[in-house]
Amino acid sequence: MNDKHKSIHEFDFELICEYFSSIERQGPGSPDITLKALSFIDIIQNEARIADIGCGTGGQTMVLAEHIAGNITGIDLFPTFIDLFNTNATIRNLQDRVKGIVCSMDNLTFQNEELDLIWSEGAIYNIGFERGLNEWNKYLKTGGYIAVSEASWFTEKRPAEIERFWNDAYPEIDTISNKVEKMQKAGYIPVATFILPESCWIEHFYAPQVSSQEKFLKKYAGNKTAEDLVKNQRHEAKLYYKYKKYYGYAFYIGKKI
Ligand code: SAH
Repeated sequence: MNDKHKSIHEFDFELICEYFSSIERQGPGSPDITLKALSFIDIIQNEARIADIGCGTGGQTMVLAEHIAGNITGIDLFPTFIDLFNTNATIRNLQDRVKGIVCSMDNLTFQNEELDLIWSEGAIYNIGFERGLNEWNKYLKTGGYIAVSEASWFTEKRPAEIERFWNDAYPEIDTISNKVEKMQKAGYIPVATFILPESCWIEHFYAPQVSSQEKFLKKYAGNKTAEDLVKNQRHEAKLYYKYKKYYGYAFYIGKKI
């Protein structure tokens, strides 16, 4: 890769990070839903070790930290998100037990059987649901939990337009029953699964983007990358409103056997 390409790439990342840093969550979710998922998990002692993988700026991590004891490590690939994550932890006075580090989810540095809980909202798709569940299993203690949210089909059949969109964006999207089977095969007892309500997409994810998009387009007027980014996000939101009865996110909670 020559320098010119490298700088264009870095600029892309910076823009994407700036766009998503302006909203509280970088994926569909809400504090209530984080707590609902947590309600299926019976831990957690004071010394518990928890990882939030693909934590973004930490919206869900701070909710977790305020409701359970233990130390939480937030993992994300993007330094801009991790900086904001650590600032968010400090603002809430959680900095002694909540720390963000830059690391890729396919190259984690935990010890085998170190963790009591692995959390990952709207992020495991970056490594793939099946691969993530399998590869991360070794870091959990026996009896430890994993809780991930993931794009899922609600029906056996879907209109061609939305089927095409997802097969292009994330071909591993699948029905909830197939995902649960994958969780079972990866060495977990499937403890619970539930669908995230539409409010997680609409009120908590797409609505906050509307004003951010306007500001962003003004700031980067004429910048093709910025315009394409906003165009893609708007397209994705439009498809969600049109086809939300066919897909969404589901939470999958498993216990390591
Ligand atoms: N969990 C957060 C963010 C979800 S968006 C929330 O629910 O709000 C997905 C996150 O995964 C982004 O923050 C992105 O930077 C991160 N990510 C993408 N690829 C990654 C990788 N290989 N390793 C770690 N994090 C990654």
